[in-house]
Amino acid sequence: MITVREAIDIVLNHTNRKAPEKVAIADAVGRVLAEDVISDMDMPPFHRSMMDGYAVRSEDVASAPAALRVVGFIPAGSFPGFSLSAGETAKIMTGAPLPEGADAVREVEKTGPGRDDTEVRILEAVRAGQNVVPAASEVSRGDVVLTSGTYLSPAAISILAATGHTHIKIYSAPRVAVLATGDELVEPSVVPMQGQIRNSNSSSLQAHCRALGLECDLLGIAKDDKMALKQRIQRGLSYDVLLITGGVSMGDLDFVDDVFRELGLRILFQKVAIKPGKPTVFALHENRPVFGLPGNPVSGATVFEVIVRPALRKMMGYPTWQNQIVRARLTSMFRNKSNRENYHPSVTWYEEGRFFCRPLDTRGSGDVASYAHCNSYLICPQDQKEVGKGTEIDVLLRDDYYMT
Ligand code: AMP
Ligand code: MG
Repeated sequence: MITVREAIDIVLNHTNRKAPEKVAIADAVGRVLAEDVISDMDMPPFHRSMMDGYAVRSEDVASAPAALRVVGFIPAGSFPGFSLSAGETAKIMTGAPLPEGADAVREVEKTGPGRDDTEVRILEAVRAGQNVVPAASEVSRGDVVLTSGTYLSPAAISILAATGHTHIKIYSAPRVAVLATGDELVEPSVVPMQGQIRNSNSSSLQAHCRALGLECDLLGIAKDDKMALKQRIQRGLSYDVLLITGGVSMGDLDFVDDVFRELGLRILFQKVAIKPGKPTVFALHENRPVFGLPGNPVSGATVFEVIVRPALRKMMGYPTWQNQIVRARLTSMFRNKSNRENYHPSVTWYEEGRFFCRPLDTRGSGDVASYAHCNSYLICPQDQKEVGKGTEIDVLLRDDYYMT
């Protein structure tokens, strides 16, 4: 049986980012830039006032108070067609260009009325450059402002808009499909009859994909019947990534790996030393990844987080694929009842300079009710049977940790 680390490496070695596509910047947030972006202008394009106040020649106001003659008014959006001579000033608004000759701004709060309308008194001395952003001090025309491979945060979208890039190249998102298997399953809208349960995995995996910014189609429920399964899986093989849940363990009706072989898929592993989630299958169909995830809801979701999500991130072109792991102090003792690396649903929080982690009390890998409250997984090493209260341990934070 391979380790979790080995499984992640095998999966990452067989996934590649998708080709670039051009999109409007409104659709680019959360995605990854697939080209270098160059500024078409200096930023700021002129010496810009940071304040509402008076543009001055600093030599005139090296000591204060100083009376200056007001020779103009410069609102943002205008361009001063005059220059300041000795003893002159112009009223200026935030974001407006300084007139020729001026090299500083005194904010209006630090000025007072002069002897008449044409005069203002500057009440505090001004240094050269004060309250002014010099032209091209942030960006020069022709500068690369974002490099290919950058994650497009809202802040990155801002510089795209500022430099006139309304459409940019990003890495295309993989199209994902989810197929559930199991004779016992009915869709969530149906009231289960005897022996039946609702298919929660499809919704859960689709939600995981959507949270990553990916489209995800649901292909319904396949019966535990080789022919039915084969037909449904075949339909799913046109997607960039196919996720199948259930049918991968040792049961008499677990046919997924048989069907993979019959369809000519190349199976790269079918057991991982992870708890929960041992019966996880990874296969390739014409270099496209196909995952057989365990049917137990917590197992399937955990394997998604630990193994599938890094692969989807890589396909999306993300500069980092790894899950976020922090060290946290356990608030109660944890027992690893397996000889596998144990990812246990937990609640983690930050308090006074360190993370704390509380393992959730669960009834096993089918317990979606307790799982719904987790924001993280404590990671108990394979060879460790027990972790004491107060011990520092690795904790995998879910992507949306900061929202919980
Ligand atoms: P399997 O991996 O098919 O042996 O299923 C393991 C367990 O997970 C069984 O208790 C199934 O009923 C349950 N299960 C399988 N598929 C789903 C699903 N799509 N939604 C919720 N539970 C499921
Ligand atoms: Mg099943």
